[in-house]
Amino acid sequence: MSRLVYINGEFVPSEEAKISVFDKGFLFGDGVFEGIRAYEGRIFRLDEHLKRLYNSAKALLINVPLSFEDMRKAVIETVKRNNLKDAYIRLIVTRGIGDLGLDITKCKNPSVVIIADEIALFPKEIYEKGIEVITSSIRASYGDVLPPQIKSLNYLSHILAKWEATNAKVQEAILLSREGYVTEGSAENIFIVRDKCLITPPSWVGILEGITRSAVLEIAWEIEEVEDIIEDVFTRYDLYVADECFLCGTAAEVVPVVKVDGRVIGDGVPGPITREIMRRFRELVSTEGVDVYA
Ligand code: PMP
Repeated sequence: MSRLVYINGEFVPSEEAKISVFDKGFLFGDGVFEGIRAYEGRIFRLDEHLKRLYNSAKALLINVPLSFEDMRKAVIETVKRNNLKDAYIRLIVTRGIGDLGLDITKCKNPSVVIIADEIALFPKEIYEKGIEVITSSIRASYGDVLPPQIKSLNYLSHILAKWEATNAKVQEAILLSREGYVTEGSAENIFIVRDKCLITPPSWVGILEGITRSAVLEIAWEIEEVEDIIEDVFTRYDLYVADECFLCGTAAEVVPVVKVDGRVIGDGVPGPITREIMRRFRELVSTEGVDVYA
């Protein structure tokens, strides 16, 4: 189905939605993006996604050509024009059109693209049965190279990690840091439960600071069975011996993990704390958000 795509202030049919081959986003992956979701006509944590986008752009010296408020309006308008209620929104800001070189001072007009489409839902059974993952041979990128907090268009390490999962016939791959600490999945953050304590890697170890991750951290405090919540590094071993494990992200939501590198996690079924977090997360997304059709 044809959609209307926002490109630099105009709405164009998806078949005509094209970007120049001289755009730095195409030439070098020089740009930033967000994946945002709308539930029942309400955009979940829109401002948090926009803040992350503007921070990513700032770190890369890309001047987003729209104010925060105008960007907010443009995202809402894109969902509205496409008559969508449950939607996946892809917002991209590239450095814009320039020459073939690397000098960013020659590139003055960043491109803004907003795509809104129906959400491709994950199969229902993965939430009921849980998924199997592997640890990837690809190391997470480092803060001293390219901070993983920047949601840039360079996703090659995550793409290669995801391919390793596909090649191993499992659903997802977990990237480790150079020191062997667990960082995140190819497009999700990770949590483990051990002795009723919820543990997730800290931002500095090399993760994207996920919007879903922070929602999970909020929800988890309200769960009686959860005795503590810690942001700390842990290793592959900790993953293997965890009582429960789950991944979380905008597209995946909260997904239980029941096997890691062939080791069964807990009882091999989604654990009670994971299930409670899934339930509360669904409740949260169905009750809050920016109303597109208000
Ligand atoms: N890590 C990476 C590398 C991701 O691409 C994503 C998806 N944006 C996440 C984590 C989860 O972040 P969020 O909850 O904001 O979607």
